[in-house]
Amino acid sequence: MQTNTQTTEFTPTLVADIAPKIQSLKNTFSSGSTKALAWRIEQLQQIKKMVLEQQDNIFTAMQKDLGRCDMESWTAELGGVVSEVDHSIKHLKKWMKPRKVSTPIIAQPGKSYILPEPLGTILIIGAWNYPLLLVLSPLVAAVSAGNCALIKPSELSANMSKLVAKMVSLYLDNDAIDVVEGAVKETTELLKHQFDHIIYTGGEVVGKIVMRAAAEFLTPVTLELGGKSPCIVDSSTDLDVTAARIVWSKWMNAGQTCVAPDYVLVEKSFAPQLIDAIKNKIAEFYGADVVTSKDYGRIVSERHCSRIIKYLEDQNVVFGGTHDLANKYIEPTIVLDPSSDSPLMQEEIFGPILPIITMDNISQAIPYVNAREKPLALYLFSKNSSFEQQVLTSTSAGMVCINDGFMFAANPNLPFGGVGSSGTGAYHGKIGFDNFSHLKTVMKRSFWFDVPLRYPPFTSKKFKL
Ligand code: NAD
Repeated sequence: MQTNTQTTEFTPTLVADIAPKIQSLKNTFSSGSTKALAWRIEQLQQIKKMVLEQQDNIFTAMQKDLGRCDMESWTAELGGVVSEVDHSIKHLKKWMKPRKVSTPIIAQPGKSYILPEPLGTILIIGAWNYPLLLVLSPLVAAVSAGNCALIKPSELSANMSKLVAKMVSLYLDNDAIDVVEGAVKETTELLKHQFDHIIYTGGEVVGKIVMRAAAEFLTPVTLELGGKSPCIVDSSTDLDVTAARIVWSKWMNAGQTCVAPDYVLVEKSFAPQLIDAIKNKIAEFYGADVVTSKDYGRIVSERHCSRIIKYLEDQNVVFGGTHDLANKYIEPTIVLDPSSDSPLMQEEIFGPILPIITMDNISQAIPYVNAREKPLALYLFSKNSSFEQQVLTSTSAGMVCINDGFMFAANPNLPFGGVGSSGTGAYHGKIGFDNFSHLKTVMKRSFWFDVPLRYPPFTSKKFKL
């Protein structure tokens, strides 16, 4: 049985130490040492080494913070960091090269290219739900692009925060990569300083605080936020595989995944079959008595646990629904047809409750999605390719997966990010490299041939040409 004990005494970084840490990173960046390919590759290799060598300590911290099993931590976090590192090391030399573009006749003879250059010092503010991945994956992109970085892990995953600070001090170049541990007070202090880019992962309310603080310095931001990600299930789908993939993506990390399907949209006539298939998969994955499963996680804190339990008030619970606040446990739960104005359907659930909304015709799913904020992810399960095209072209979402859960996150060739209220900017792979680079315009002209037409005086003869 899983429990999250949160035994770590949280020791934030002293506020007085924050400014000197930032200054030290800025000095390192000014020295130019982080620009070299060799430095970048070495740090990337060290990130991988750190994750692999510290695997057991990471598993223990995840267990304490989230009651999470090791296999889930590996697939969702450690494995993700390792594959991001491998991908970056493989392609970095090419990404760093000048990118030639054609030059129009008016600027001939000449050459044009885009030269990626590092931005400077990047602030990485992480969230608690994937407390390793959400700080190290941005770090891989920031380091690949030749930047210094300051990491601020979430205080809610206190064991991982402490471990991240320790690992970074042991494995990485501390003149260029540092950690500030802390909560609101320390983050507020951090945001008073000028960075060259801020990447923030977390909720919308704090996203606005970060963006406002960044605006003071005109600092660019990447906001990795959340929202209610819909999952449209068309009756043409493969029922068994669909149920397995919905259960995997909804109940991983006890539903505390930014890209988890928040709710399902399905035709009334198909809903009973889908609900039965989902129930069967829950039993197959976690056993008949989920509370005893070693593979099912816990809610991060009592506050979040009470928030989620409250969503069940006055709802039609058709599966699950039991909970134990003291142990931060909530059973995988299905709610049928909650009203649109209930908190369950107004707020991001970020927990193990799956509302199923039924409709007469699945085509109604499109206006349903479009009547709400643009989601971080949208899922469609269907074998009907014309409906697939209709959904793709008539809705907007940060990311879409057809016939699976959040498998797009495993492909470093795809940008990871939201749109509208679910976020701005994206990272992973080359897109992450570009996100933390300035793509500098360079044009080189030749002295060989100079057309005087553009120079004054603009005589009538020149106009006639
Ligand atoms: P959180 O409480 O850990 O907060 C995120 C960060 O903001 C933390 O580092 C925290 O210290 C800092 N913070 C909190 N209050 C602050 C304040 N007043 N001023 C400055 N900084 C402050 O995380 P959360 O917000 O509960 O995270 C959950 C949300 O994050 C969900 O909406 C989820 O969808 C989203 N999320 C998005 C992604 C993504 O990649 N798009 C990934 C994970 C989570």
